[in-house]
Amino acid sequence: MRDADRAWLAEAIRRIEADYNRSADTHLIRVELPRYPGITLYLKDESSHPTGSLKHRLARSLFLYALCNEWIGPRTTVIEASSGSTAVSEAYFARMLGLRFIAVVPAATAAPKLDAIRFHGGEIHAVDDPRTVYDVAHRLAAETGGHFIDQFTYAERATDWRGNNNIAESIFAQMAEEEHPIPAWIVCGAGTGGTSATIGRFIRYRRHATRLCVADPVHSVFHRHYADRTVTTLPEGCASRIEGIGRPRVEPSFVPGVIDRMIAVEDCDSLGAMRALSDALGRRVGGSTGTNINACMTLVEEMAAAGRTGSIVTLLCDGGERYGCTYYDPDWLAGCGGAWEASAERTAAFLR
Ligand SMILES: *Cc1c(COP(=O)(O)O)cnc(C)c1O
Repeated sequence: MRDADRAWLAEAIRRIEADYNRSADTHLIRVELPRYPGITLYLKDESSHPTGSLKHRLARSLFLYALCNEWIGPRTTVIEASSGSTAVSEAYFARMLGLRFIAVVPAATAAPKLDAIRFHGGEIHAVDDPRTVYDVAHRLAAETGGHFIDQFTYAERATDWRGNNNIAESIFAQMAEEEHPIPAWIVCGAGTGGTSATIGRFIRYRRHATRLCVADPVHSVFHRHYADRTVTTLPEGCASRIEGIGRPRVEPSFVPGVIDRMIAVEDCDSLGAMRALSDALGRRVGGSTGTNINACMTLVEEMAAAGRTGSIVTLLCDGGERYGCTYYDPDWLAGCGGAWEASAERTAAFLR
């Protein structure tokens, strides 16, 4: 690398570190469960990152990893295959470094998401067939001399799983003064699989008794692969409506070995739990948070039935702002049938 480029690299890393240095950690919200004495639920609120979701952590890690590998330099166009929160967060970091950023997205992607990517300075490259996003991302990288940052491959290795204030270390530090500082369970979803890999490895490395549960949409391949490692893709036409989690193919960053249990959740149960939690908190949360809460209900009920006390920590992955035309739109919800309403009532009772 030329001296000028090495100086650019140092400045790029300084900017990301300085941004981190100015940031506060995300809150750990304590949720009392009066019906379940001795059991407390905690929500790690990842919606409070500058770009609104847990993908802020991932984007920071992916950029630092790519910079330190010298995959990204001062003239590199950065490309990602993402229709969602990852592209929004990556656009934020690309702009911070003065780099061009292109998100390769399926043509059907909802407008509010595209607006959020553009708001942070990203460009959109839409493709008609969603299955071609990876190929198109590779091709664009070759044509522009750019770098395909590839969240689904690198999420699990770009994060420092042993510490460095990753999400797991932050959770355990914030739990330190609680009655049950070591959670019985930590519950999260899997999109790239990066978050579950980090938490699962950290728990083992620190030798905690905590178990890791991954809540997965019924129409996702991950829990099927967990039960039978020969299953690697979903049957045709099977698709989850919960954005951010549940994939049609097993992604390279999904690490099943560090997961202690998976719970499959129907979309209508995720949406019902999402609505009930939003009402309880007084602000909207995203669908994958509902999936997590639904799995937490199962675990809390099992603990109570076994006479156990303790704590359960789950993630509030993102807020509801980007879902105004879907999950929080009465017409859209009506298209899902009324099944979510019974689920919302059950979750509301659980939280009351
Ligand atoms: C990406 C994402 C997840 C899953 O996190 P991974 O670390 O990618 O497995 C959950 N919820 C939302 C809203 C997401 O965007």
